[in-house]
Amino acid sequence: MPELPEMEAWRRLLDDPVRAFPVEKAGPAHVATLKTFEPPLSSLEGRRLAGAQRRGKRLLFPTDDDELVLLVHLMSAGRIRYLRPGEKGPKSPAFRLRFQDGAELVLTEAGPKKRAGVWLLTPEQAQAELAHLGPEALGLGAERLGEILAADSRRLHSLLRDQRVIAGIGRAWANEILHQAKLSPFALSTQLEPDEVGRLAEAIDSELERGLELRERGAGDKQVYRVHRRLGDPCYVCGTNIARVDYDEHTVFYCSRCQTGGRVLKDRRLSRLLK
Ligand SMILES: [Zn+2]
Repeated sequence: MPELPEMEAWRRLLDDPVRAFPVEKAGPAHVATLKTFEPPLSSLEGRRLAGAQRRGKRLLFPTDDDELVLLVHLMSAGRIRYLRPGEKGPKSPAFRLRFQDGAELVLTEAGPKKRAGVWLLTPEQAQAELAHLGPEALGLGAERLGEILAADSRRLHSLLRDQRVIAGIGRAWANEILHQAKLSPFALSTQLEPDEVGRLAEAIDSELERGLELRERGAGDKQVYRVHRRLGDPCYVCGTNIARVDYDEHTVFYCSRCQTGGRVLKDRRLSRLLK
């Protein structure tokens, strides 16, 4: 799933191209992908986008007359592409935006489940749509993070991924950040010492910045992730094999030596408990 580093890299890449020419045609969009009906997509046509913005894992494209905002959320499997004029793209993308020079912004989604979404909103609607999001993960700082952690007793991995609490981190970067901070994914947020909060705040910034820098250079998952989906690979700090623990809906990757004091975490899938 694209998270803050991936989406911010996209934002930087798209910021200039999307404002170069007005929109010629907006759509078609897959019926499950387009989440709004009013205003209609066609109301984008003839308008110029003001560039690309980002909030958490979402991209926003406001029009330069401040009347409309196109919001894109890729979810797990959605991918965005910018096609230069004449460049070949997918035949039937989930969403397509064509500019007057012939360039296109297209959204595709692998698999049968259509979860990625496109919203066309007024600025007020866009504000309401984003109102539930917590502060941006990057640049949060130890003081603010400390307040957030103290407010709710939660397992760190789960808390970091909760967009209402902190916006921009998902499964992959939660794994990378907690490893860098040398904290257990299952430590309780309210039980961290001040120096641990400081380490976590630093790791959030350093890992997201590392990811952003690599993604801007076009690096793939294998180069970017050092812990996430690295089961059995040696930890880059201590050489211990990276372990994983499965939950019903996701998998956590960690180093038992760096993060859990040598303890190997038990599988917590409900299905295992019922057997
Ligand atoms: Zn280690």
